[in-house]
Amino acid sequence: MTTKLYYSSPKTDQWKTNITEIIEIAHGYDVILEETAFYPSGGGQPCDLGSIDGITVLDVYMDGNEVVHRLEHLPETSNVTCILDWTRRFDHMQQHSGQHLLSAICLELFQTKTVSFHMGIEHVTIDVDQPNLTNEQLIMIEEEVNRQIYQNRNIHPYFVTNEQLLSLPLVKPPKVTENVRIVEIEGIEYNACGGTHVAKTGEIGIIKILKGERLKDTTRIHFKCGLRALQEFQATMQITNALSEKFHTGRKDILDRFGKWEEELNQLHARIANLEEQNNSYLEKELLSETEGNIIKHIFSDKSLKELQKLAAKIAAEHHVIVLFATTAENKIVLTHDGSKTLSCGAFYKEHLPAFNGKGGGSPKSAQAGFSSNEDVLRFFQFVYKEIQQEIL
Ligand SMILES: [Zn+2]
Repeated sequence: MTTKLYYSSPKTDQWKTNITEIIEIAHGYDVILEETAFYPSGGGQPCDLGSIDGITVLDVYMDGNEVVHRLEHLPETSNVTCILDWTRRFDHMQQHSGQHLLSAICLELFQTKTVSFHMGIEHVTIDVDQPNLTNEQLIMIEEEVNRQIYQNRNIHPYFVTNEQLLSLPLVKPPKVTENVRIVEIEGIEYNACGGTHVAKTGEIGIIKILKGERLKDTTRIHFKCGLRALQEFQATMQITNALSEKFHTGRKDILDRFGKWEEELNQLHARIANLEEQNNSYLEKELLSETEGNIIKHIFSDKSLKELQKLAAKIAAEHHVIVLFATTAENKIVLTHDGSKTLSCGAFYKEHLPAFNGKGGGSPKSAQAGFSSNEDVLRFFQFVYKEIQQEIL
């Protein structure tokens, strides 16, 4: 069986060893080594990566008792040099050890047990069996876990016999029945775990809780440890500093300034709506004065579909006319009346739109359509006007 250097010598990141078995698979090779420091995926921890004689390791997994390394092609000799991606491994060790400590403190402070653990590239989370942990409680947990980091407690991994196991106050029963590996954080907890961990809590660096999220009967705690936490802080500071500069104020006053800015924006929106309404009244008068008959038509170059619909509905309701509006800003056409006309706008659109490359539809009282070019909009506009005029006459 392969010697598992990730247990016997957890800081090994480069070693020479022999290939003992090669299995050919569809798109590469599965290789077994005499000794390996490549940790296979398992227990919520992703696998290690790196290279074997310069060939990239694509995956590492357990097959029975064997650690299997997947390679795209084979090395030239069976005696190989292995190099572990130590940055990735150390990150996993920090997140995983941090998780042990965080789970232990959640249990100690608020008697809430960890029911699941997830470690991804972006997110690291635990779910604890209390659905309503408050922000104050999360802050207490965060402060306590970091205090335990400063204590720099030893983290011991060791294998125990079944008899020794009985005497240990484990957090939860182990998943395996033989060769149980205990990870003891001195003075904190005994946990059955097969993962890789740092040697002292100080190496976790920092545990930062990002947020708590209620999920059915649990709280999902999002957190980052070590370098990940530092990088999170760097990214957050970049945003905070940029906002600080934009608002010409210190970090503490940003929210205040933002509140005022939001208020100003709302006032501006209200003013614009007011002016638009005034403008529409003038527009309505002008359109009515230049219209003969029952159809009011106009091509706008600056209005949105929403504005067209609003204005068209208003004019149709007040003056009992058919309104035909187009906007070249969005290549849209609206046709509306107040229900007093026999014309079915939706059916008319449905029948004629395909010939003009238009898409749309609507109800008997109102229809809208969009076109891919200005040209099609103008063509359809002229066509509708002509058709309706004839229908009314
Ligand atoms: Zn562990």
